[in-house]
Amino acid sequence: MPPKVDIRRCTGCAGRMESCCEEACPGDLMAVHPDTGKAYCRAANECWDCMSCVKNCPAGALETKIPYQIGYYKATLRPIMGKTSITWKCRDIYGKEFSYTCINRTR
Ligand code: SF4
Ligand code: SF4
Repeated sequence: MPPKVDIRRCTGCAGRMESCCEEACPGDLMAVHPDTGKAYCRAANECWDCMSCVKNCPAGALETKIPYQIGYYKATLRPIMGKTSITWKCRDIYGKEFSYTCINRTR
């Protein structure tokens, strides 16, 4: 399931040659629409939920829709990137939110 784009937050990464989500996607699936200036996934059925684009968006405009096998409709997972950690914001199907912070791996 492709990431959900919050069009109010998406800036289109204006000023960059390539948007951060385009740059991060290993499948080259993300793009910025030339008319709207907002990101979208151009081949939703090819997205494998790796979340690289979600983690790389500087505007926090992308959200993972959790596959129904795990969380059913409306459950979401969103990373808040820190310098040395990621805080995962999970929302269940009833709208209840949970946060988990993990320290990033360092060399
Ligand atoms: S990285 Fe975020 S702000 Fe930039 S184009 Fe993609 S969704 Fe929009
Ligand atoms: S979740 Fe992964 S595969 Fe899907 S659009 Fe984002 S970067 Fe590409």
